[in-house]
Amino acid sequence: MAFCTVVNCMDGRVQLPVIKYLMDHLGVDYVDSITDPGPIRILSEEKKGTAFASIINRIKISTEKHGSRVIAVAGHHDCAGNPMPEKVQKEQTLKAIQHLKELFPGLKFIGLWVDEEWKVHPL
Ligand SMILES: [Zn+2]
Repeated sequence: MAFCTVVNCMDGRVQLPVIKYLMDHLGVDYVDSITDPGPIRILSEEKKGTAFASIINRIKISTEKHGSRVIAVAGHHDCAGNPMPEKVQKEQTLKAIQHLKELFPGLKFIGLWVDEEWKVHPL
């Protein structure tokens, strides 16, 4: 029973593509989804505050209770919660991963971009 974790947008259009991508590419049975509107903005900009802390707490539940060792962080086209161009969102995703690596040095991180056709691409 293997888990991985994704920090993803709450947008309903990206849930199934991202979950399926991670199951196919990591061979995991389950994907714990941590969703907020545009979480890459939160993780890249706010290193303090309740929204950031909430995401960190949920990652801990996934890693400590489910043994997840891979955390994916995803941004997507047409994000209502983080309406930034693709280039900016990809930079936010990489910065978010940097911040998470400092807090979770033993874990593996993957950045993802979901395009206008809802296809998933690794960064
Ligand atoms: Zn979004």
